[in-house]
Amino acid sequence: MRFFLLFSLLAIAAACSKKPDERVADRPAGPITLVIHGGAGTIKRENMTPEREQAYHAALQQALDSGYTVLERGGKSLDAVIAAIKVMENSPLFNAGKGAVFNSEGKNELDASIMDGSNLMAGAVAGVTTIKNPITAAYAVMTKSEHVMMIGDGAEKFAREQNLEIVDPSYFFDSLRYKQWLKTKEAEADREAALIDPYTKDKKFGTVGAVALDQYGNIAAGTSTGGMTNKKYGRVGDAPIIGAGTYADNASCGVSATGWGEFFIRLAVAHDIASLVKYTDLSLQEAADSVVMKKVPRLGGDGGIIALDRLGNISMTFNTAGMYRGYIQKKGEGKTFIYKD
Ligand code: ASP
Repeated sequence: MRFFLLFSLLAIAAACSKKPDERVADRPAGPITLVIHGGAGTIKRENMTPEREQAYHAALQQALDSGYTVLERGGKSLDAVIAAIKVMENSPLFNAGKGAVFNSEGKNELDASIMDGSNLMAGAVAGVTTIKNPITAAYAVMTKSEHVMMIGDGAEKFAREQNLEIVDPSYFFDSLRYKQWLKTKEAEADREAALIDPYTKDKKFGTVGAVALDQYGNIAAGTSTGGMTNKKYGRVGDAPIIGAGTYADNASCGVSATGWGEFFIRLAVAHDIASLVKYTDLSLQEAADSVVMKKVPRLGGDGGIIALDRLGNISMTFNTAGMYRGYIQKKGEGKTFIYKD
């Protein structure tokens, strides 16, 4: 009996662990690559004007170009992630930085995180209201403090000390998003109404994220968001939680998520995908499918992820009608997408 048990355990272990020659960490790295997202949701063609659609593609392309330029010049994946995310934070089209949604008190409280897959260092900020580009604050927490996460006033004080760009909270005021919030308040706890995007009239999450692979074979991932419209004061979503909205490990993959944050936290989505890649025979795409297409909806959540491994394999998986997304692996050949097809 004991032998039988031992044999079964060994068989399971053998089936679940990758053979050394299959481990991504042991194989030559793939080409420099950048993959980004600008939020997932019920993004439908019929609700879009051609101009609006064009504006999204242009903003995504600008983010891709900006990050890829860093990689191409021999820069680090971390810097490419920051460059791409800053472009999207500065655009009102996305729910991050300048386009952040309003919380239940009519304030913009921003969250962001970043992770270095080469050494598992990570940084995050949550509930900040005056840092123009929260992704740069997350990076400062990672590189200039001994902490992983800082919140609210403390994070802002630290950002000032690090000479990051500070703005008045009114910088984040966007009248279309404000009107969206007022409508949501009227609808009182109507989650569907809370997700209506004022720019596209679609229901969507607009968090932004990027995952990059540099010429040194290092992966980095980052995510930045305003959270969810009408969220309760002080609510923190998955975006700044390492392992939920963001994760990066050269030995498995980098992941950035967008979606209903509470579900992504409870399922530790980003880390779960990375673990499936690391410890099972699933490919990156299969791992992403198993978490995003099965586990998240089973619990009642929705959203999507982007992921990238050291070989340059990409996944852009979502269980919603669309996800603003794109990738670039060759100079001048960036591709951006909105809908499922
Ligand atoms: N995941 C974000 C949050 O829950 C929302 C989003 O993806 O837009 O805060």
